[in-house]
Amino acid sequence: MGILVQKYGGSSLASAERIRAVAERVIASHRADQPIVVVVSAMGDTTDDLIKLAQQLADEPDDRELDLLLSTGETISCTLLAMTLRHMGHDAISLTGAQAGIKTDTSYSRARIVSVDPSRIQRELAAGRIVVVAGFQGINEDFDITTLGRGGSDTTAVALAAILKSDLCEIYTDVDGVYTADPRIEPRARKLTEISYEEMLELAHYGARVMHSRAVELGSVYGVPIVVRSSFNQNPGTLIHGGMSMEVRNKVRGIAHDTDVAKITVLGVPDRPGIASSLFQPLAEANINVDVIVQNTSIHGVTDLSFTVSRTDVNRAMRIVEPIAREIQAADVVSASDLAKVSIVGTGMQHAPGYAARMFKALSDRQINIEMITTSEIRITCLIDAARVADAVQGLHEAFRLDQADL
Ligand code: ADP
Ligand code: ASP
Ligand code: MG
Repeated sequence: MGILVQKYGGSSLASAERIRAVAERVIASHRADQPIVVVVSAMGDTTDDLIKLAQQLADEPDDRELDLLLSTGETISCTLLAMTLRHMGHDAISLTGAQAGIKTDTSYSRARIVSVDPSRIQRELAAGRIVVVAGFQGINEDFDITTLGRGGSDTTAVALAAILKSDLCEIYTDVDGVYTADPRIEPRARKLTEISYEEMLELAHYGARVMHSRAVELGSVYGVPIVVRSSFNQNPGTLIHGGMSMEVRNKVRGIAHDTDVAKITVLGVPDRPGIASSLFQPLAEANINVDVIVQNTSIHGVTDLSFTVSRTDVNRAMRIVEPIAREIQAADVVSASDLAKVSIVGTGMQHAPGYAARMFKALSDRQINIEMITTSEIRITCLIDAARVADAVQGLHEAFRLDQADL
């Protein structure tokens, strides 16, 4: 039998009791013929607490130092789980990301995995041990510790499942699976039994934090089936995979929302070739992800250009954009952080008209103003006032009958 990879999120490991419960679950899944690798997140809110602590001492903590600090959260939980398993009579060993062979690039706080050397894990598994790996972290070419971005333990788990050629990667969390919308925002959201990689990727990328988007991307590229399920009960979860039937493909499958949005507007930009490139090239070089871009038609040769970035990047982005705006003789640069994205996702949308109109009507019925719009073949996203996000999710859930459809 192949190797099983399980990942447990922060709320699943929030206390000594929870760690004991996770250890019992790991032992129950560890059959003699199936080696097991367990990836863990930091306990409870540890990562948030460490960030707050750092910010009390430095406004913008140095990113190398911050990554080393944040990696300690996962190091704590992996050692505690391994100790618990050993105490329960099972041979187990904890490994940091570096010990598990996870090499990344050098971009702190959002590092990408460049390679995984599975030899240490394989050696420990061959010795009959349960291997517990600290998620969310790796090591770069300078032997410095990096982290993979918030929610990145999912990506550690799927990367290990891919390199170890696992039959399955199980993501254990605090909800029963992937729902039609965040069940904390829309109580009528329904659990999906299955979802395609491409739909899950769009949902995750546009805010459904139940899965880290890069984990879904890796799952898709390496064909790793992923099951998302609860560590608090035995209910079956949601299978994320490639082999969806035609029938279920033909619908809006879910709604994502994201409040981690900041908008930057460059006002009075001269409308001539090269301007967009002079703004966006330096942002790309600084590794700042620009999402929605809107440029108004120019009146008298000047225009306004707006784009969105993550709230964590807005200060850095402003520091890059302001001098360029002066150089190109734009009138001003302003930023706003009171916006949110709400998206509908479904492969069925790519050949059927009318979804955008239904989405805009649902929002206008609730008097929600749309600031910007962006689409992919299987997604429509609207930027709205952050204060209206719950209303928007609920309105769209109702408009697309996601509480009723047999998904
Ligand atoms: P973990 O610590 O286990 O990684 P996360 O907090 O990262 O857990 O992800 C689980 C949370 O994702 C849920 O508690 C839920 O509020 C949120 N979530 C957002 N969108 C969805 C969705 N479509 N389906 C299920 N959960 C969602
Ligand atoms: N502990 C990290 C975070 O809170 C990584 C993770 O949980 O996946 O973002
Ligand atoms: Mg998570």
